Amino acid sequence: MRRITACFLTAGMMLSLCACGGMQQAEEPARRQIFAMDTVMMVDAYGPNGEAAVEETEQAIYQMEALLSRTQEQSQVAALNRSAGEVVELDPQLQELIQAASRYSRETGGAFDITIAPVADAWGFTTDTHQVPEPEVLTELLGHVGMEHVHLEGTAGTVDAGTEIDLGGIAKGYASDQVAQIYTAHEIPQGMVYLGGNVLVWGRRPDGELWRVGIQDPADPENPDAFVGILQLEDAFAITSGGYQRFFEENGTRYHHIIDPSTGYPAESGLLSVTVVAPVEEGRGAMCDALSTALFVLGEEGALDLWRQRTEEFQLVLLTEDGRAVVTDGLAEAFALQEESGYAQEIVS
Ligand code: ADP
Ligand code: MG
Repeated sequence: MRRITACFLTAGMMLSLCACGGMQQAEEPARRQIFAMDTVMMVDAYGPNGEAAVEETEQAIYQMEALLSRTQEQSQVAALNRSAGEVVELDPQLQELIQAASRYSRETGGAFDITIAPVADAWGFTTDTHQVPEPEVLTELLGHVGMEHVHLEGTAGTVDAGTEIDLGGIAKGYASDQVAQIYTAHEIPQGMVYLGGNVLVWGRRPDGELWRVGIQDPADPENPDAFVGILQLEDAFAITSGGYQRFFEENGTRYHHIIDPSTGYPAESGLLSVTVVAPVEEGRGAMCDALSTALFVLGEEGALDLWRQRTEEFQLVLLTEDGRAVVTDGLAEAFALQEESGYAQEIVS
């Protein structure tokens, strides 16, 4: 079901990217559609090395998945999660990613926390057997949550017994950083990379226009053409997290997959989605992914506080439950509200 939705989303996004152009493309890109990391990915690269770049990207993504997947028993993350205090050897990529995750956890006051995994399990988000856990169960599990339970030692590492990590909130952004490296190495002039809600636009479109990235309407996630607004971008990451992406309903209440580590419950911050945009620079894909999840937990005020400390690094579009599209001033030119969305636009500085 999730995959089908993602398929439509991808198709919708591509359609909108093409349809908005109105101009004929001189050249077809090399393209791969990849099923990995529990989502659908679409990878486009133009230019003479396009085919080599998308081929290398596909291999790199499968390798990352084999390394980072929590559900594949032979992955290093699975081994780490079983380690219970006994150190295991870790690949440098995994080390780097855990270190980045620790940093974003610190910088967001714990709103981003990869050790939330056992709590997410209790809600059934990992297995699709959804349930509302008993409060005592959550309290017990929260005792194992926190980056102090993850220990890196040289080229090895371990987690305390009862603690597990899940890199789902940062892995796709990290993957988009790897794609950027591959595109640089192959001197790709233009491209578009869609890793399930994580977009990387490379250069400009072949017709010289900016790429157009739609921000999905959270009220209508099945509709690929329902956008609250369009961002016109070049050389940028645009990564969205929202409670509408994965959820279940019980007794009329909706429970989604982004957990507030301070409560163990799905975050209720007044936000429907957070889009983080940053120029292509090393590590910014992982940053955008981690922050989109964390800022969704923190809410509008917390998100804007963090942005004001780091306006050089990223910009935001926040969709609020009370119908506002809050856009940080660095995106004032790039963002165009779709009037029919019913949202009211606010530019903040
Ligand atoms: P998606 O992966 O659905 O695009 P996100 O990037 O927002 O969306 O990541 C959500 C995933 O991250 C969840 O499915 C879960 O695995 C994990 N997660 C949930 N809550 C948190 C949190 N507070 N910090 C870090 N990871 C989280
Ligand atoms: Mg994320």
